[in-house]
Amino acid sequence: MKELSYCDLVADHVRHLAPYQPGKPMAELERELGLTSIIKLASNENPLGPSPHALEAIAALKGELALYPDGNGFELKNALSAHYALDLDHFVLGNGSNDILDLVARTFLGPGTSAVYAQYGFAVYPIATQTMGARGIEVPALQFGHDLPAMIRAIAPDTRVLFIANPNNPTGTFLPGDDLRAGLRQIPSEVVVVLDEAYTEYLSEDQCYDPVAWLDEFPNLLICRTFSKAYGLAGLRVGFGMGHPQLIALLNRIRQPFNVSVPGLRAASAALGDREFLERTRALNAQGRRFLETAFDSLGLSCLPSFGNFMTVAVGQGRKIYDQLLRQGVIVRPLDAYGLPHHLRVSIGTQSENRRFVEALAQSLAVRTPVSAVVV
Ligand SMILES: *Cc1c(COP(=O)(O)O)cnc(C)c1O
Repeated sequence: MKELSYCDLVADHVRHLAPYQPGKPMAELERELGLTSIIKLASNENPLGPSPHALEAIAALKGELALYPDGNGFELKNALSAHYALDLDHFVLGNGSNDILDLVARTFLGPGTSAVYAQYGFAVYPIATQTMGARGIEVPALQFGHDLPAMIRAIAPDTRVLFIANPNNPTGTFLPGDDLRAGLRQIPSEVVVVLDEAYTEYLSEDQCYDPVAWLDEFPNLLICRTFSKAYGLAGLRVGFGMGHPQLIALLNRIRQPFNVSVPGLRAASAALGDREFLERTRALNAQGRRFLETAFDSLGLSCLPSFGNFMTVAVGQGRKIYDQLLRQGVIVRPLDAYGLPHHLRVSIGTQSENRRFVEALAQSLAVRTPVSAVVV
């Protein structure tokens, strides 16, 4: 074969990147195993689908689809501005919040800089960091969650970004608002703190905190949110960041001009006001969480406390159980790539999906308890 001379010229940090591993698509499993009626509980999508308001808004689109989107996303920013009582210049829109994480890395990281994140933190942080040739400082987890004081101690003179996922994915752990705020006070102001809150809508009332109210005090804080999870729009790719206008302006400089699509902008604006849908989403999630906790308990499995729309459960050999679940048409997420080979992450689905998952899990574990004895 002809030698590809350009490969050797690519920087090491790019050649050695381990790409993000997404959840297995249903169509792929269908092709591979010829299975039908597959359920996917691997990517923390909303089992209720999109908000009906979002569906209506997209269905009404016609001629606009031939036009470029509004590169400033005025309509969506306006809706966000009203929702969060924050001026328009505090928002940056992204092609999913993943795009925002990437924008932060491209803006602030490069060779000779570093980013701090937690062991078992969201996989995109090390990828975005390494992509830019920056050094990743991974801080050992505390009971599978972020050890914020240790993360703050790990900040080096060349640290430019500190990533926090709250609740965290894939472990579902949560840092209370008071701890976060106390931590922010100790972080040098030249370090940008990315507070990634993809699951914030799932927090119960007593867990809720309001980081938007902290923006005045912390001009280095960037709050990331997404329409992919509770709003049910993962396929459309819409996320956003909230922060100091100067921080936002920097991110906007390198943002692709049309990074959010016409349907994405339209659907997100419509979904934002659909409180009824969010309430249903939260209620279903809380019910599913209780159900799964009980089921894991009766299977003798221990799970991590979950604050999001997924559960992380210790099953022994994670890969093996994952494969056995696949054969029964149930897709979950193995966590060996995260250094958690004994755990699986399962998204909380509809009640019938949850039941099917538990039945398949019981089979996979080859527990002697007959499936009917499991509380389903
Ligand atoms: C799902 C997720 C995201 C982003 O998803 P997008 O679809 O890109 O908005 C960001 N952070 C965490 C922790 C997530 O779990």
